[in-house]
Amino acid sequence: MRIEELGEFGLIELLRAGRLPRGEGVRLGAGDDAALLEGTDGTLLALTTDMLVEGIHFDLSFTDRASLGYKALAVNLSDIAAMGGGGSSWAVVSLGLPPGTEVGEVEELYRGMSEAAWEYGCSLVGGDTVRSPRGLVLNLAVVGKVREGDLLPRSGARPGDLLMVTGEVGASALGLAALLAGKGREDIFLQYVKRHLRPRPRLDISAGLRARGAAAAIDISDGVLRDLGHICEESGVGAELRYGDLPLPPGAERAAADLGADLAGLVLGGGEDYELLLAVSPERAGELQATGTAVAVGRFTEGESVTVLDSTGREMKVPSPGWEHFKEAG
Ligand SMILES: [Mg+2]
Repeated sequence: MRIEELGEFGLIELLRAGRLPRGEGVRLGAGDDAALLEGTDGTLLALTTDMLVEGIHFDLSFTDRASLGYKALAVNLSDIAAMGGGGSSWAVVSLGLPPGTEVGEVEELYRGMSEAAWEYGCSLVGGDTVRSPRGLVLNLAVVGKVREGDLLPRSGARPGDLLMVTGEVGASALGLAALLAGKGREDIFLQYVKRHLRPRPRLDISAGLRARGAAAAIDISDGVLRDLGHICEESGVGAELRYGDLPLPPGAERAAADLGADLAGLVLGGGEDYELLLAVSPERAGELQATGTAVAVGRFTEGESVTVLDSTGREMKVPSPGWEHFKEAG
């Protein structure tokens, strides 16, 4: 069988089923936003890695290298945030560079990466540089800290918990759609393009969420629906999502119309907002809601199905669930 038939998530399942070597000191292995390793003094270490490949994750015809460097680190830090982590972190950076790469291009990449590193308290402490036969490849591995009492695994959702989301969703997908349509420089799309090119990991709030009632989290990388599906799968629950309650960025409807795009498709399937989806006990949700940290957009249920309701409470036909590697985009 070829990997394009199995798909990214099928491949991950296959590898997890193959009994990955696991010695001491592992609190949580594959299957969450980051692995968790036993640290000292009640602190866990969260270890994560993300690879960006030219032509798959980014297009240098509309992504400047500084933004690419910024985003590469930001998306890794987002996985630390999704575990409930915060504070200092450390990264190694590996680059595959086509031989014709200009030195200045690599410097630009590092300028953006360093900007994110300073912003979020991450030290760049090494890596590897190799020749790539075709296209730029950029891989980062990051270690961050998660205090035991802050831990937010994907598996923590229970039936009856509220489904909440931080920030807004859909901006990144609108930005990408604008870039693909050659409209990235038009005023009405600038805010979305910025969100797509320079996403913000939610390290500003992540470490305090469990103390405020959250029990599970995932960052929105693959798309709201797909990432919600990951929480449901790991928690053994279903979910009901109210589309009309999802917080969209200002002007989203007009922007989607201008692009001739299906807004619901972008919002539910687009991904890369790097906000957090949370499971929160209903008694505790008021504080997150009142402070504007997160808003309720649905609830977790018994069973395993994920349904999306429109503003009248009717079940919505939903577009493709989100991004998956190896399978053709659908
Ligand atoms: Mg993640």
